[in-house]
Amino acid sequence: YTMSHLHPADRDNNATVQSSLDATLTATREEKMPLGNVSPAWGKFLTIQARAIKAKHALEVGTLAGYSAIWMTTQIPGLKLDTIEYLPKHAEVAQRNIDAAGVTDQVTLHQGAALDVLASIEKEIIEGRKERFEFVFIDADKLNSAAYFDYAVKLSKPGSIIIVDNVMGRFGISVAEQDPEEEHAKGGKLVIEAVGKDTRVDSTVMQFVGAKGYDGYLIALVL
Ligand code: SAM
Repeated sequence: YTMSHLHPADRDNNATVQSSLDATLTATREEKMPLGNVSPAWGKFLTIQARAIKAKHALEVGTLAGYSAIWMTTQIPGLKLDTIEYLPKHAEVAQRNIDAAGVTDQVTLHQGAALDVLASIEKEIIEGRKERFEFVFIDADKLNSAAYFDYAVKLSKPGSIIIVDNVMGRFGISVAEQDPEEEHAKGGKLVIEAVGKDTRVDSTVMQFVGAKGYDGYLIALVL
């Protein structure tokens, strides 16, 4: 039983796009990579947020096999996405999936540690060689989410939206615990506390039960 019985957001209505998304998940499994991709409904949610603000330049931290990147770029024609992946194998599989989905021209995949890549993107923006981002999706190593968020604000502009995934804890460990050790809960707590005090943005945290159980995200509007 899947949500698509109730609502088509669980699938893309375009058969070609849907087969690219399915192929990406098949490659993730065949390559024995972690199934850390967003759910289909969440892929749709990201694209709705980015479309609503008419984003033309997006940044993603954490590519994995390119599933969320393919959601965003296939749904938003012309969207330019910079996506960052640390592991060479993940980056290689992602590039293959991106090429097969026909969005090669829209996606720049940076293979490297996100903090290093973000520093070089910042330099390009400061030197006027690159546009600022209107939309940022943070979904990588959770203990660094707060550091990535700080970069996201610096690399965007007033009106930009920043989304941080999995901030409420996972696997039954809640962010509300005193000193959570689990990575999602610990990183979530750090980023929620930092962003809550950050006067450069207005933000909130949403908790939900989705395809992967108890989960939640942080959304911020750059002021
Ligand atoms: N956004 C992807 C999707 O929905 O399809 C899922 C991303 S997955 C949850 C997290 C990814 O971040 C992994 O592929 C992991 O290798 C990558 N990652 C972990 N640490 C990183 C780092 N320091 N810099 C860049 N990527 C990193």
